[in-house]
Amino acid sequence: MTSETPESFATELRCIDCGMAAPLGYRLQCSFCGGLLELAYDETALARRGPGVLAGTGLWRYAPVLPIADPAHRVTLGEGRTPLLECPALARHLGVRRLRVKFEGPNPTGTVKDRSSTTAVAAALQFGFTATSVVSSGNAGSSIAAYSARAGLRSLIFAYEKASAPKLLHMAATATDLVIYQGVYDDLITLWDRLVEDRLFFDCGASRNAYKHEGKKTIAYEIAEQMGWRVPDVVVAPVAVGETFIAAHRGFSEMERLGWIARRPLMVAAQATRANAVASAWRENRPLQPLRIGYTVAEGLAAGNPGRKGEWVLRILRETSGVAGDAEDEEILRAQALLARAEGIWAGPTGVAALAVLQRLLAEKAVDPDASICVIVSETGLKTEAPPPSRQGIAFDEESLRRLVRERLGIGG
Ligand SMILES: [Zn+2]
Repeated sequence: MTSETPESFATELRCIDCGMAAPLGYRLQCSFCGGLLELAYDETALARRGPGVLAGTGLWRYAPVLPIADPAHRVTLGEGRTPLLECPALARHLGVRRLRVKFEGPNPTGTVKDRSSTTAVAAALQFGFTATSVVSSGNAGSSIAAYSARAGLRSLIFAYEKASAPKLLHMAATATDLVIYQGVYDDLITLWDRLVEDRLFFDCGASRNAYKHEGKKTIAYEIAEQMGWRVPDVVVAPVAVGETFIAAHRGFSEMERLGWIARRPLMVAAQATRANAVASAWRENRPLQPLRIGYTVAEGLAAGNPGRKGEWVLRILRETSGVAGDAEDEEILRAQALLARAEGIWAGPTGVAALAVLQRLLAEKAVDPDASICVIVSETGLKTEAPPPSRQGIAFDEESLRRLVRERLGIGG
């Protein structure tokens, strides 16, 4: 094996509830208690080798802490290695000491989903599946379809009827089969999840598959590596079902145990107010209760029933003194405009929800403005559908053009 194809140190699956171990295989829950599974690694070897065990570029640089053994299965479209942007103007605007944005828009399909799609589709190859499927509001669907195409697998994508036109176009172009469903994510996911048991396709959903989930852990590794194996004091992550939040926390905790970083950051869970099952349960200190939700501009956060992953997010928040919050659609759209104008970062509403929630938590004094803060902005704005500004064109001659330029730039005479 060359240094460009580092080996995986994955050893087994382990139940997050009862701790029962299971061999590495396509298993979606604990056979003993039905709990969710997470991957375990040879941490003694990883601690001994240190970050020097990493090799190559992009997401598969982190292959030692991912569960894909054969380098031939490591399908890639060039995901990962997204920028960690210092945002001084935005920090001044929010009144915080130091703010960074981990911007996931530059991923191949424009979202953080590519991190989990690459390991999901790689795992589908690893376990000999020929088809993938997912239920999506748009981002996961286009991402899974693209990675499945890249791997030569069929993809059966169920897409939200209110998904934006750019996302639907993207899915139609890349999916083998695209089916539009009525209602919201929660309406279909329970039925689809039952079909997963029939093994007609590889489960690329967000609710159970540990192999898919694991790819998103690389966002934590990348943030730490980009900061020279240090971490911010606070990381704000969006929560729909909880995959990005849980995986980021997993990554930071793992690095802390391995001694690669000194301590993990405080995690903040960010939701849209119109789909705030986790944030409201956290605030009211009660168990998770599914919500019946309507439309939110943060389409990717439109899940009212995060299920067991939602409970996992709550467990992390309670065990680590984390914080949860939510933001109204209007606040999310204002945060989108602010991020674009203040820092030139154009993100979709799903992507900036975490920033909107941070603003609210700062106003409520629930987050320390003297902390160094990193906000995960999970998607590009280029796949968002919105009415364009006026298309009323102006006819120019040289003189009227000169006049307009001087006027707009405030140049007198
Ligand atoms: Zn168990």
